[in-house]
Amino acid sequence: MTGVQFEISITEHCNLNCAYCTHFAPCVTEPEFLPVGSFRKDMKRFSEITGGRIDYLKIMGGEPLLHPEVTEFLIAGREYFPQDAVDLYTNGILLKDMPDTFWDVCRRKDIRLVIARYPGADHGQIERLCAANGVALRWASEPVKVMIRYKFDLTGQQDGAYQHRICNQCGTNLQFRDGKLYPCCRPANIKHFNRYFGTKLKVADADGLDIHAPGVTLDAVKEFIYKQIPFCRYCRNDAAESVPWKPSERNIEEWT
Ligand code: SF4
Ligand code: SF4
Repeated sequence: MTGVQFEISITEHCNLNCAYCTHFAPCVTEPEFLPVGSFRKDMKRFSEITGGRIDYLKIMGGEPLLHPEVTEFLIAGREYFPQDAVDLYTNGILLKDMPDTFWDVCRRKDIRLVIARYPGADHGQIERLCAANGVALRWASEPVKVMIRYKFDLTGQQDGAYQHRICNQCGTNLQFRDGKLYPCCRPANIKHFNRYFGTKLKVADADGLDIHAPGVTLDAVKEFIYKQIPFCRYCRNDAAESVPWKPSERNIEEWT
């Protein structure tokens, strides 16, 4: 185990619309796709930093199966991390429509499908498709009936040290965005929330680690991902609560 597992969103939008979505996919009203070239550039550099060894890479979204070049990301992920787990996180709704080339790449490149059982997918059909195509499947959850509602303090007046100390996201949900690595998904994805609601939660340079900067080492990455960042002052981890799953009404109260 290297202690480094990370996520990257290849689409920002989603074909489900879950309230409380931590990636703010309901706030993304137009399709947004990550270019394959950008992914390759970041994965190449991160592979150099890690010596090509990680715990696992999670390719996700939004809904990653909406990306017309999804297989190119799977191929590139496996190319840069040949020995470790490369997982595709999806809600599974579109699996029934995926072409043979998708299944072929998943099988040949040893890509595992990880699926949270949200409403809207036929889970029996997904199991049959994976078995028929020889592709590994892991259910990430029981049928989703509850979500965690993580809240923001829009004023940024929280005690960041305290919020960081009680945080269960830090270091376990590393996110890549635009060549930077973030210790959690919130600063990496907040631009969608800000754009939709007209809020101004600020992402500081120090919230992310520029992996393309000279001299970044694996030790520096490991140290950074567990550090408090300026963005922690927006979090209300003390007020997080379990709530029933429901479709988003794109209401700011779902996140505050
Ligand atoms: S399926 Fe996942 S990415 Fe899509 S809206 Fe629900 S929580 Fe967000
Ligand atoms: S911003 Fe800080 S406190 Fe908030 S989820 Fe990320 S690491 Fe945790």
